[in-house]
Amino acid sequence: MLGGVGPKKAGHGAVRRLVVPIAGALILLAAVLVTVVFYSATRMNQSAIAQQRKLTDNALSLRLVQALSELRSVSWWDEMVIKSRADALDAKWLDIEVGVFVTTSYKHDRIIVLDEANQPVYGFGQDTRLDQATQRHFAALVAPLVAQVRGGKDVSPRVTDRTLTSEVRENSKITDRTYGRGAAAVMSDNGRPVLASIMSITPSIDMALNTPRPRLLVSIIDVNGHMLTDIGRSILMPDLSFRKTGDARIGSYLLKSDDGRHMGTLGWKPAQPGDGLIGKVLPLVLLVLTAVGLIVAMLFARLITSAKRLAEREVEAQQLANHDALTGLPNRRKLRADFEALASNVMSRSRSVSVACIDLDRFKDINDTLGHQAGDELIRAVAARIEDMLKPSDTLARLGGDELAVVRHYRTTNDGDALTMAIATCFDRPFAVMGHEIEVNASIGLANAPVGSSFDDLMRQADIALYEAKAQGRGRSVRFTPPMAEKLQKRHSIEVDLRRALAERELTLNYQPIVEAATGAISSVEALVRWNSPLHGPVTPDVFVAIAEESGMMADLGRFVLEQAIEDAQKWPHIGTAINISPAQLRSATLVSDLIVATTRFGVSPRRITLEITESVLMSSDDRTMKVLNNLKACGFSLALDDFGTGYSSLSYLRDFPFDKLKIDRSFVQGLSVDHRSLAIVEGVVNFGRILGREIVAEGIETEQEMQAMQQAGCTHLQGFLFSRALPADHIEAMAATFGRLSAKRAPSLKPVAPDTAIAERSSIRKVG
Ligand code: C2E
Ligand code: CA
Ligand code: CA
Repeated sequence: MLGGVGPKKAGHGAVRRLVVPIAGALILLAAVLVTVVFYSATRMNQSAIAQQRKLTDNALSLRLVQALSELRSVSWWDEMVIKSRADALDAKWLDIEVGVFVTTSYKHDRIIVLDEANQPVYGFGQDTRLDQATQRHFAALVAPLVAQVRGGKDVSPRVTDRTLTSEVRENSKITDRTYGRGAAAVMSDNGRPVLASIMSITPSIDMALNTPRPRLLVSIIDVNGHMLTDIGRSILMPDLSFRKTGDARIGSYLLKSDDGRHMGTLGWKPAQPGDGLIGKVLPLVLLVLTAVGLIVAMLFARLITSAKRLAEREVEAQQLANHDALTGLPNRRKLRADFEALASNVMSRSRSVSVACIDLDRFKDINDTLGHQAGDELIRAVAARIEDMLKPSDTLARLGGDELAVVRHYRTTNDGDALTMAIATCFDRPFAVMGHEIEVNASIGLANAPVGSSFDDLMRQADIALYEAKAQGRGRSVRFTPPMAEKLQKRHSIEVDLRRALAERELTLNYQPIVEAATGAISSVEALVRWNSPLHGPVTPDVFVAIAEESGMMADLGRFVLEQAIEDAQKWPHIGTAINISPAQLRSATLVSDLIVATTRFGVSPRRITLEITESVLMSSDDRTMKVLNNLKACGFSLALDDFGTGYSSLSYLRDFPFDKLKIDRSFVQGLSVDHRSLAIVEGVVNFGRILGREIVAEGIETEQEMQAMQQAGCTHLQGFLFSRALPADHIEAMAATFGRLSAKRAPSLKPVAPDTAIAERSSIRKVG
């Protein structure tokens, strides 16, 4: 449990929630980009093919127009009119000037001359004249075109007036006038595609050669290998070729005759610019996307690490805020949070809860003598040992300083005694700290409550019980009871009132005589502080001196007492004055100087002043205490060891410290009647004191028997109600003035009086007087 809490995945989720949509968006973007690239590539390819188709179509049309133009070069010629006449057809001339010329120079495949009745009269093709059948076959094929040329309906949609070259158009005009015209079309020769073109044979110069119905020159170009290669080259499609069977390839042109007959396809390997796009742009796009993806991934990785770090820091901060740095234990804040979490947890089966507040006794002394580091080590060691004996469901926390707390839940009501006992056993063995074996005790305050009680209430109760444990003498466990709270409340109220009373000089001093045992003469008086609070009535010094000690008012109270007592001492120059010095005063740096200032100021010899110091001061004494005592002694003050018998009653104090007097506590004196051993002890103490040459004062003498016993035991001085209660200074002054040194013989005759309170003391004055 001294360790920490495992790092939580806090803050992570937020990043996760971001990663998914952003990664999704990136993937979507990538998909869209790739799709766009593919789409554009396909569109580019498609439009490229469409364009190539259009080019192919145009090339065919151009070839037709070109064919007409080529035909024109021989048909529009006087010589041609003459040589192709029916009466004088010059086949030989036609062979050379038309057949060979047109087929070789212009790469037409066949030339046929039709007469006025559209019958073939001459034919040439493939380096030889065509036979009659072939001539008739082609004459029949081109019959629709012939009809057009003869003035019939237009059957060559490709070769319109606009598509014709100016030369051909010119010729056409002339032929119009001279009954001549041209026409050309893509035709199907039994399914084989051919380009057919026809031109009227008309004179170019001698218009007299004109006839109303001119002969016609027909050209047939096969759409095949070399012809397609030629036009393919012109449109940068050198692999253009004809296929009979329909090819579904993308790069294909559906070849139809102009009259709509399907003949096959022209195919080529299509230019695919889109492929370039895919080949070049897509890798680029993918590269950029990958880069972006990587960057985003890196950013996210960073974001995640920083989110993680943030979460860890949060956990650390939580750890710091909720845990004690020294022990790593939960602090009060965490203890409260856990407590309240359990209280509000309906699933919890706990019914009651105990809180034990643990405070190390005299921890300050350990800190002062061994150093803070050892103090820290000790706290750690104590925490570890308590932790070891706790149940897993218990919580141990450090509330601060040397204060720890344990919270334990029970399924039944429980008095928590087992818990405090277990804690107490932790202190049975010493703690090994930095080479020291430290014996340390702890005071434990316990509070029990049913589950549902408020944390603050429980802690307050445990704290009150702890205070009570300390007040009862430390090293013990005390369970909280409601009267403790009332007592504490009352104490607090007294504390507040005492502060005011000190400021308003409401406190007074009374003086109780101390008589010589042998003569009964008053040798000195003990100054005892009195406070009659308007709010609380008379408060005994046992109560308010302790409060002043604990709440830091003792320096003021002490200074008031010693100044007042020394001032009053002027009034009875033949009697000594004893002043009680509290532990806090003895620790104060100004005690010696305060005393010297006061004795000097009021002209009182330090020899007349006895300082009463309780045994308890010596129990936790150090070199400083010794120094102060020696210092006081050197200044002439007498020292009395007060309340001897209530502490360790060690006679060594008498030997080791410079005391002049020993005051045997009244519990001893009053114990005489019950326990006869007390007398033996007193006798022993007195003898020892005598050997050392000390005065022995027996205090609290209330009866004649006690007085006699103490006288017999050898006490040199006696003090108690039997002789007098503590009286206001003017009574002592009056007594001193009247009697000088009061007779010892008067002393035993004084009667015991009512219990000692400020009021009672006043009323007892008459009896004393
Ligand atoms: P203490 O120093 O032992 O003072 C003696 C106490 O015993 C006084 O109580 C006194 O009234 C009481 N006493 C005297 N004779 C008898 C007797 O025959 N029977 C009984 N039962 N009691 C007797 P008080 O005045 O209530 O003082 C109580 C304690 O308060 C003192 O014990 C002392 O420790 C402390 N105290 C009183 N005044 C001062 C003071 O001015 N300064 C300091 N530091 N402590 C003071
Ligand atoms: Ca005293
Ligand atoms: Ca005393």
